[in-house]
Amino acid sequence: MEHNASNFIRNIVKEDLETGKHDHIITRFPPEPNGYLHIGHAKSIVLNFELADEFGGKTNLRFDDTNPLKEDIEFVNSIKEDVKWLGFDWDGLFFASDYFEEMYNRAVLLIEKGLAYVDDLTADEIREHRGTLTAPGKESPYRNRSVAENLDLFKRMRDGEFGDGEKVLRAKIDMASPNINLRDPVIYRIAHATHHNTGDKWCIYPMYAFAHPLEDALENVTHSICTLEFEDQRPLYNWFIEHCEMESKPQQIEFGRLNLTNTVMSKRKLKQLVEEGYVDGWDDPRMPTISGLRRRGYTPEAIRTFCREIGVAKTTGIVDTAMLEHFVREDLKLKAPRTMGVIRPLKVVITNYPEGQVEWLDAEVNPENPEMGMRKIPFSREIYIEQDDFMENPPKKYFRLFPGNEVRLKHAYFIKCEEVIKDENGNVIELRCTYDPETKSGTGFTGRKVKGTLHWVEATQALPAEFRLYEPLILDDEKEGTTFLENVNPNSLQVLQGFIEPNMSEVKAQEKFQFFRHGYFNVDPKHTTSKKPVFNLIVSLKSSFKL
Ligand code: ATP
Ligand code: MG
Ligand code: MG
Repeated sequence: MEHNASNFIRNIVKEDLETGKHDHIITRFPPEPNGYLHIGHAKSIVLNFELADEFGGKTNLRFDDTNPLKEDIEFVNSIKEDVKWLGFDWDGLFFASDYFEEMYNRAVLLIEKGLAYVDDLTADEIREHRGTLTAPGKESPYRNRSVAENLDLFKRMRDGEFGDGEKVLRAKIDMASPNINLRDPVIYRIAHATHHNTGDKWCIYPMYAFAHPLEDALENVTHSICTLEFEDQRPLYNWFIEHCEMESKPQQIEFGRLNLTNTVMSKRKLKQLVEEGYVDGWDDPRMPTISGLRRRGYTPEAIRTFCREIGVAKTTGIVDTAMLEHFVREDLKLKAPRTMGVIRPLKVVITNYPEGQVEWLDAEVNPENPEMGMRKIPFSREIYIEQDDFMENPPKKYFRLFPGNEVRLKHAYFIKCEEVIKDENGNVIELRCTYDPETKSGTGFTGRKVKGTLHWVEATQALPAEFRLYEPLILDDEKEGTTFLENVNPNSLQVLQGFIEPNMSEVKAQEKFQFFRHGYFNVDPKHTTSKKPVFNLIVSLKSSFKL
């Protein structure tokens, strides 16, 4: 497997191994199972797994499942599937919820040391007491409860004696700290809710800030890599490691999260798009989820290369989606068979071609990869071309078909437009053309030149197919005063009925093709039937993107 170019995290790891601070490393990918993974998670997955891989270490998949209200086994399963599909194998598979007893004991230890207390303030009161960046916080009137009283109350919280929100356990640190995270953060709250893993065993749940460092330490994680929003929490992370007397001392390192143009990434927003019906599920091909990208036709190779190439930095930038598209084109260029498909069909009758005759033409499967061999395509008197490839009154420099003009049909002959047939409303419904038998592809004909080459399919044997064309789901990046829902692109999906070559009758879900002049397409696994394949546009052929 290829590896990350040099990045600052890699340098830290390298140094820790060279200086003997660690003799091996352990990283982890710690998703909360409250949604499907997205391309931002892929950045973290690639970073953690490839770092460990490069230095002979290990990577755990750990579900950070400390909030029963939002988590679900559906998400656990999809996350496992997506990590595997991306090409990674975890060493340990862990659930934070398996450590609840251990975490409880460490919280008791804090109480015993006078470093945690049960608070009766409401959530709102706690927020008010916390103060601001410029004003110190105020101590809770419950802050100086005795150790014995705190031990008793905490036990009773666990035993279910109190309702949700009635009490919390807080770390006793410093209400005047310039770092608000250190102003007595809440470490346990009451939630009478059924947990996907522990059922009804617990009615108190640890907060992320407390749970996460303990989870890392319990797994002997050496480098705990997270996104930049957690930088201000690092002192708190270290405080818990120290005062909970964890033997293992993981190091938290932050990097800038991935943002993409025309994309919303947070699970909360993606969930909203799913639940409010803007898309057809988490795996809708317009979604930036791993399952959406898979269904769209992105390959794990392309996603991994993208994640490596964007690099890892201490700042959060926004990456052009065109870069992701660039890498899928690069990956599919040599792999995807070429074929022809007509998305908006226009019938063409070749009047001088013998009626009833069919000839089979030879075409390369992939001119950039000759090993893929040849395919056969039929040609006859009736074909379909693309509606866009004909104009009755063309502008200058239009090299496709118009009355009196001659073009090349890919892999076949030159044809010339002789007559335009219209319906009663004046719409063009058919063209009458003639062909020149001397111009057959592959015969080396040089008698005259034409400027346009069109794709086509033979009409009597063509197979019906559905084409789904996509535009970005989100029109613009969120502007001040608008919600992302107001920026959902109403034209993000276009469904069209067209035709494909008859040699495509056996296509399978997730097979990828390059349709000549259109782009790369993936066979949709959800909507494809034995009667009709559905093709998702992965990416068009042209790009303005330069690496
Ligand atoms: P979201 O805000 O999208 O819900 P999250 O950070 O809450 O994401 P988690 O399930 O907690 O989601 O994420 C698991 C890991 O993936 C974390 O270590 C997190 O830092 C990382 N991660 C999440 N989003 C991104 C992103 N956009 N870029 C890089 N890493 C990310
Ligand atoms: Mg999170
Ligand atoms: Mg989140």
